[in-house]
Order: sequence, then C-alpha cells, then structure tokens
Amino acid sequence: MDTNLNKLKRLDCTIVENHRPMSAFRSGGRIGVVIYPHSVKSMVEVLNFLHAERIENVLIGNATNVLFPDTKFDKVVVCTKKIASLSVDGTSIFASCGTMLSSIQWACRENGLGGMEELVGIPASFGGAVVMNAGAFGREIKDVIESVDIWHNGKVSCLAKDDISWRYRDWGMGECVVLGGRLQLLPDDTLNVAARQKYFEAKRQKSQPTGISLGSVFKRVGDISAGYYIERAGLKGYQVGGAIVSEKHAGFVINLGYAQSKDFVKLSHIIKDRVDKLYGIELEYEVHIL
Ligand SMILES: Cc1cc2nc3c(=O)[nH]c(=O)nc-3n(C[C@H](O)[C@H](O)[C@H](O)COP(=O)(O)OP(=O)(O)OC[C@H]3O[C@@H](n4cnc5c(N)ncnc54)[C@H](O)[C@@H]3O)c2cc1C
Repeated sequence: MDTNLNKLKRLDCTIVENHRPMSAFRSGGRIGVVIYPHSVKSMVEVLNFLHAERIENVLIGNATNVLFPDTKFDKVVVCTKKIASLSVDGTSIFASCGTMLSSIQWACRENGLGGMEELVGIPASFGGAVVMNAGAFGREIKDVIESVDIWHNGKVSCLAKDDISWRYRDWGMGECVVLGGRLQLLPDDTLNVAARQKYFEAKRQKSQPTGISLGSVFKRVGDISAGYYIERAGLKGYQVGGAIVSEKHAGFVINLGYAQSKDFVKLSHIIKDRVDKLYGIELEYEVHIL
C-alpha cells in the first residue's frame, strides 16, 4: 500500500486492498483500495486525511447506482456500509450515512411512523438515497428529510432541508459528503404503515424486473419514464454481450450473469442514439458511470 495510505491504519476503519468488484451490476474489475470507516467520527478523519494529502477518492454506499470500469480501479474508494445506526425520537429518525433504507422502513413499521412507504424496496444506503434524492411512486426522500449532516472540504456542518438544492434524482450539492441526517415522519398506526409498505412492495414487484441491475439506467423525461421511449424504439430484449434491455421494464438493463461494464456502456450508448434519432430526446444517465 502507498506509504501515505498506510497512515490510515491508525484510524478506526477497515482497509481492504485489491477488493472484489462492488457494483450491484456485478461487473467491473478489482478495486485497488477500499476504506470502510467504522463510525461517522472515523469517516470524518478519513475524509480529512484524504483531503489534506490530496488523494483522489470516490464515495459509495450500497453501490446500487454505480458502475465501475472493467479494468482495475485506481482511485481510493470510501464505503459507508459499516456506518449503520439509527435512533428514533418521537416522530423523527436520525440515520447515519450507511444505514440501509430497509432498516429505516423497519423502524417506521415498528414505531408507527408513516410518510415514506412508497420508497420500500429501494436498495439504498441513507447517504446514497439523499445524494440521488431517491424516490418511487411520486414520493422522494426529500419529502421526509428535516436536515442533513455533511462534510465538505474539511468542514462538518448541518444543512436544513431548505438549504439543499433538491432536484429530480439529485440533491444538487456537488461534492458534499452525507454523514447522516434526520427524517421527519407522521404518527400512524403500525398496522397501517405495514399495510402501505406491503402495497408498494407488491406494486414494485409487479412493475420491476428481479434480475441483476442498477435500477433505471436513465432519468425520466419530464413526466414520462425513459423506459417508455426505449420500449417504443423497439429495444426491449436488445442485447449486447451479457447485458440486455429488460422485457418487463425497458428502463432497466439486466446482467444475464456474464455482462461486463463495457457491455452496459455500449448498450446504453445504442439506446441513447436510437431514442435521440427517433424522438430528438437526449436521455440523461441516472446511473453514475465511474
Ligand atoms: C433493483 C433496483 C431498484 C432500484 N429502484 C430505485 C427506485 O425505485 N428509485 C430510485 O430512486 N432508485 C432506485 N434504484 C437506484 C439506487 O438504489 C438509488 O439511486 C440509491 O439511492 C443508491 O443508493 P446507494 O447507497 O446504493 O448509492 P451508491 O450507488 O453507492 O452511490 C450513488 C451515488 O451517491 C454517492 N454517494 C453514496 N453515498 C454517499 C455519501 N454518504 N455521501 C456522498 N455521496 C454519496 C456515490 O458517490 C454515487 O455518486 C434502484 C436500484 C436497483 C439495483
């Protein structure tokens, strides 16, 4: 390991060299160094160190929206997965960045807190959900956010919901890192919350494919899903290598088990070109290609 990075061993984190591929698309090469801070405090120390030493790095949560290259990835990756904790205080929940949305949904169910049932099934960490302003069925994470703790250029601060430039599938805060945040929910009956979670889970299962994917590859175009244009362009079932446009939902690209990242990229270029030629629409990636 780089002598600079060796200094990180003093901090409360796990460092894995030559890490196995991490993307939920199950493609990509090995990753040179992955750092897993064990707490928000150690995450801040890791980020401060990388910042001071000018070491380029990439942050990931559950890697369900990121595609790594097929070649070995040289930038340092900081993964928040080991920073998972939440606490419930009345109708508010505080979650650290690596907490899975599924754990937050569980806490909502146990404590009778409503307001984010539509998001059930999004396989995100809290940090990834905030950065992507993740959403489903007309609801977005921003709708239940009260404040977000951030790290930026060596400084830690707290942003109120209205300080954030929320957009569709983007929180608009560039390089800021999410350390944790507070959600404000509505008091409700535990059975009602559980029933609504079940309802939206079933709705998701009906409309989305279950194969290996990164969810929707492209952002919606106004009110219309990218999948609508992709389907009309006749691309359902179109395949490049081991990557195929889902027959169930044309907005998803599925890994048939042997796809490489380059297959995903080539297929997404073909989709973009075809939709642009036919409809004059420039599809914008929702997936972050590293
Ligand atoms: C089967 C499937 C279904 C999906 N369904 C939906 C859906 O219904 N709605 C939806 O919105 N999305 C959906 N997604 C996409 C994805 O789950 C979301 O975008 C999610 O918010 C990504 O969270 P993550 O923790 O996996 O983030 P990652 O993929 O790890 O990262 C995503 C981006 O956030 C950044 N990031 C992650 N954590 C932090 C942090 N703490 N601070 C700063 N930056 C950070 C990363 O650098 C990256 O740019 C789906 C994905 C899959 C695989």
